[in-house]
Amino acid sequence: MKEVTVVGAGISGMVAAINLAREGRRVIVRERRKSVGGETGIKGLEGKVIKIGDGTPLNLERIKSYTGIDISSVAVPLVSATTYAYREKSEIEFVPNVKAYLVERGPRKTSLDVFLYEKAVSEGVRFSFEDTVRDFENLPADTIIATGLFNDAFKELGVPNMQVFGYLAMGETEDKNPKVIIYLDEYTRDYAFYSQVNGARGACLFSRGKPLDTSVKERFQRQLSENDGIEFDEWNAVNIGALPVQSARNPRLFARNFILAGTLSGTIDPMMLFGVHGALVSGKIAAMAVGDHYKALEEFRRVNANFPAGFIFSWMFRNIPLPILKYSVRGGIKAYPFLGRIIGKRLFYLLPGFGRI
Ligand SMILES: Cc1cc2nc3c(=O)[nH]c(=O)nc-3n(C[C@H](O)[C@H](O)[C@H](O)COP(=O)(O)OP(=O)(O)OC[C@H]3O[C@@H](n4cnc5c(N)ncnc54)[C@H](O)[C@@H]3O)c2cc1C
Repeated sequence: MKEVTVVGAGISGMVAAINLAREGRRVIVRERRKSVGGETGIKGLEGKVIKIGDGTPLNLERIKSYTGIDISSVAVPLVSATTYAYREKSEIEFVPNVKAYLVERGPRKTSLDVFLYEKAVSEGVRFSFEDTVRDFENLPADTIIATGLFNDAFKELGVPNMQVFGYLAMGETEDKNPKVIIYLDEYTRDYAFYSQVNGARGACLFSRGKPLDTSVKERFQRQLSENDGIEFDEWNAVNIGALPVQSARNPRLFARNFILAGTLSGTIDPMMLFGVHGALVSGKIAAMAVGDHYKALEEFRRVNANFPAGFIFSWMFRNIPLPILKYSVRGGIKAYPFLGRIIGKRLFYLLPGFGRI
């Protein structure tokens, strides 16, 4: 069997590589960084490492049976999150039938990235680091392109996207407990969050489509400090890259004669932009596509069936008048303990594959 090339040693690329290696295929993963989870090239963070907890609802058992990979050793359970919805504080206890987790990203042993890398190596996957792919036209057919938010492949393959801008701060803490704080505020129609896991901590304020003024960052900084005593030495203004949320028809499994995976394929939730769940699921589908385009496409469509609905919700969230938005968001958060129990996992059906795998 011919060797399969995967571009990008992120979540979806490594899940695809592991699955292909298990089928007995030779796999090479080409990665622009020096190591998995290492220094990123995101604009504004050049030469820095993103060590941060990605929060996501997950059903670990379902993920294990779908992808063949048990990530429970690197998924830290999260039982609650603090939210400040237009300055009104609430403590949300997640309902017991919907499990949420934090997964550490970055180069440490405790990260999901290193966990997947070690698994891939043990399955015989080869990695080529410091190997940025620029000449997409020279890649073999059925190469899996899993380059995340990086602009190059979006441009090269004509995938519609919106640029995502923001501010990011990172650091370490003695406190090993997992924690998430979410801020919804007038300053962005997206949101801002703080997370900590395994002693790594980060705060991110972002906005799709347009950069945010520094006064917005200063306000978020003040909120973190005054509300929760959280401070960082350094804040970075970033252009995080491309988000495939420009059109309700964004998700696509194929472009030219390549297979797409992860963020690039649009397997994300267009509303809250949760990407981890979709990246795990789409890695599996990309591997399936190497053997059977048709079957994989059917599965890809099934998994992404709720994207148009999420796109509409997201559009409404960003365009309805602010007083109505504030009222609905605060009301929704207050009703969560009651509604969450009734609706259960359907609350997260906008995450590609959630409740469907
Ligand atoms: C600051 C931040 C916070 C986030 N928080 C959350 C969260 O709380 N919850 C959540 O669910 N999601 C979150 N996400 C999104 C989540 O990280 C992504 O959706 C997920 O990592 C996508 O996986 P992927 O496989 O598509 O790409 P990635 O995991 O990003 O991997 C892409 C890989 O491709 C490599 N690459 C890129 N271009 C090239 C090239 N030309 N040649 C070779 N290699 C290349 C990159 O270096 C990288 O290693 C966050 C993202 C960011 C940036």
